[in-house]
Amino acid sequence: MVATAASAWRFLPGVLLLLSGFAYAGVMDSKADSTARVLSLQHTHTGKSLTVTYYRDGQYQDQALAQLDAFLADFRTGEATPMDPGVYDILYRLHDKAGSQAPYQIISAYRSPATNEMLRKPGSGVAQKSQHLLGKAIDVRLADVSSEQLYNIALSMQAGGVGYYRDSDFVHVDTGRVRHW
Ligand SMILES: [Zn+2]
Repeated sequence: MVATAASAWRFLPGVLLLLSGFAYAGVMDSKADSTARVLSLQHTHTGKSLTVTYYRDGQYQDQALAQLDAFLADFRTGEATPMDPGVYDILYRLHDKAGSQAPYQIISAYRSPATNEMLRKPGSGVAQKSQHLLGKAIDVRLADVSSEQLYNIALSMQAGGVGYYRDSDFVHVDTGRVRHW
């Protein structure tokens, strides 16, 4: 009995390490964990800019996340929500893969229920249960990468939902299940 308990304990650290590895994985490679992750954003509706290191030393930075949440608030109502940091990782990795030197132009991020309902017209492509309502989606474009190219790179990442809005020239990414439109 004692021997069994002892051997179980001996395995525990390995099991915990394995579990934390899985919880951590997301869209990022584990080898990139020590690399600081910076995002540069320009908001197309408020005209504001933000460059922020939202992840460093293996941790998301609370203050930076709060800055991002405020920056990505519903610009129509001023309401903000804690965004899913996973969507920042998608943007970070996408920017890297696209080889862009430009800041992201933000078209839409968090949407309050009132705003989403207002935007939801037939043929608008705005979903009733939009990931924007959950703080898990961002619509972006880049000045130095075409939206079509950006869409294709985002698709190849298989990290969540990806949408291409040709007429409005932007790409939607979210941390929902992998799908595309
Ligand atoms: Zn969207």
